Amino acid sequence: MKKNTFQLPKRINEETKEYIKGSKERKEIIETYNSMFSKKIDIPLFIGEKEIFTENKKNITPPHDHQKIVGTYSLCEEIHVKDAIKSALDKKNEWTNTPWQERASIFLKAAELIAGPYRSKINAATMIGQSKSIFQAEIDAACEFVDFLKFNIIFMSEIYKEQPITVGNVSNRLEYRPLEGFIYAITPFNFTAIGGNLCASAALMGNVILWKPSDHQIYSAKVIMDIFNEAGLPKGVINMVTGDPEMVTNIALENPNLSGIHFTGSTHVFKGLWSKVGENINIYKDYPRIVGETGGKDFIVSHPSSDSKVVSTAILRGAFEYQGQKCSAASRVYLPESKSDEILENLKTQIKTIKMGSPIDFENFMTAVIHKNSFDKIVKYIEKARNDDEAKILIGGDYDDSKGYFISPTVILTTDPNYITMNEEIFGPVVTIFVYADNEWKDILKIVDKTSIYALTGAFISKDEESIEYALKHLRYSAGNFYINDKPSGAVVGQQPFGGSRASGTNDKAGSKLNLLRWVSPRLIKENFNPPTDYPYPYME
Ligand code: NAD
Repeated sequence: MKKNTFQLPKRINEETKEYIKGSKERKEIIETYNSMFSKKIDIPLFIGEKEIFTENKKNITPPHDHQKIVGTYSLCEEIHVKDAIKSALDKKNEWTNTPWQERASIFLKAAELIAGPYRSKINAATMIGQSKSIFQAEIDAACEFVDFLKFNIIFMSEIYKEQPITVGNVSNRLEYRPLEGFIYAITPFNFTAIGGNLCASAALMGNVILWKPSDHQIYSAKVIMDIFNEAGLPKGVINMVTGDPEMVTNIALENPNLSGIHFTGSTHVFKGLWSKVGENINIYKDYPRIVGETGGKDFIVSHPSSDSKVVSTAILRGAFEYQGQKCSAASRVYLPESKSDEILENLKTQIKTIKMGSPIDFENFMTAVIHKNSFDKIVKYIEKARNDDEAKILIGGDYDDSKGYFISPTVILTTDPNYITMNEEIFGPVVTIFVYADNEWKDILKIVDKTSIYALTGAFISKDEESIEYALKHLRYSAGNFYINDKPSGAVVGQQPFGGSRASGTNDKAGSKLNLLRWVSPRLIKENFNPPTDYPYPYME
């Protein structure tokens, strides 16, 4: 029996370190990066108490230096996935019965480890394995991850506090039970914090997890597992397997104990998961909870009243930070004719100063895109735009994959608001611009709303209050995260809960209470202190 209460963490976001010249953190990250870059790591599967190294392995190569091998990771077989699910289920009872204060303490310790002794390691792994600049790694792997862990503890306590009323002789309470089976977490390459959070959020609520990280985030995934381990998370609560995603998924989705899927990644993969769950619906003990945050085709609309520099900066930061590989990256922009020349001129001037290369050279604002498939896909869009009559490449359009998968920041100008690059998710440093006649700004909002299947993020830039109200109303369902006079990316936990609807996901808002609610199945407990002893009611007299 616990004989203490628990002090909740403060609602304060982790402070972003600046890594300016001469700073202690800069020296530390350079040393850590160089040391990790010059060694070879061998990453196992984490199944219950065991770390398993299989014979079948794949190399880990930094996207900015693809011939360099910094490590290997093990490829699992069917038996490993089954073992991992069994380990999770074997741990279930113990973990479910662990007092919530203890679960919270473990994840709070994990947050402190990330903020302190593991900060440079998790950042360096993210820089090496996912080609993030130090700033992009810091706001993701360190700050956002710490925030997820800490804020989720606060949200958990708020959920537990929500209780029904107690009347007269009757006491009512809700027990927020974890789901009965296991949760399958499938995570993308582009955010280390998402990898950690999709497991940790469900585990914090008392669930056990099978985790399959992206093949392109495995270096930092290993650091996450080390941190959870050092924080005291019992082995078997989170089991990490790496390997063929379809095989792992088929085994997980054919298990009757599947209670939930926590996915972030592309729309077509998510739809595939949902279909498989539908096909298997008769085998499950529970109706599996399906949470998925998926693709985007995020927009910036500049109203005729907008400030040109605000618009060009929002485009540049929104479209090109982390090489446009944020689900929230701006990738279609609508400019008023009266301002377009000035905005595009600003953009050209700003883009000229962008440096691109290895993340260990801190002058670089951009580095490489994640892998060869992604590089080839992005290049196809660029070449198509180069050859199509309704598009032209205004800025950039260069690429080179001889050393790393480098693509220069590219701006396409189109005369067709439905042009393919205004419509499809490219997931690279490519933004397409459509210029509209100023007096048609209301019509353009209809086009913004209908152009793509996605509805993740969007920005409206304007100095005119009425136009902002109008846009909010007419773009109500166009974005789950709507930004006024800002770029459409950079959501902060506790400040801008994140997620979109339509083909962009189930909008369960990572970094909020809404997400955690998906990982509990409340049991109502009514206790009668003075139960009746005969059946007739007074009206019967
Ligand atoms: P992805 O869909 O290729 O991969 C995501 C995960 O699914 C990985 O673990 C991958 O191995 C696995 N996977 C791939 N194919 C599979 C299959 N056939 N069956 C089962 N699992 C499979 O996505 P990605 O390239 O890693 O990430 C980029 C995508 O993620 C973009 O579409 C982006 O918009 C989206 N994303 C969305 C959000 C959001 O919050 N909405 C956040 C980050 C990324």
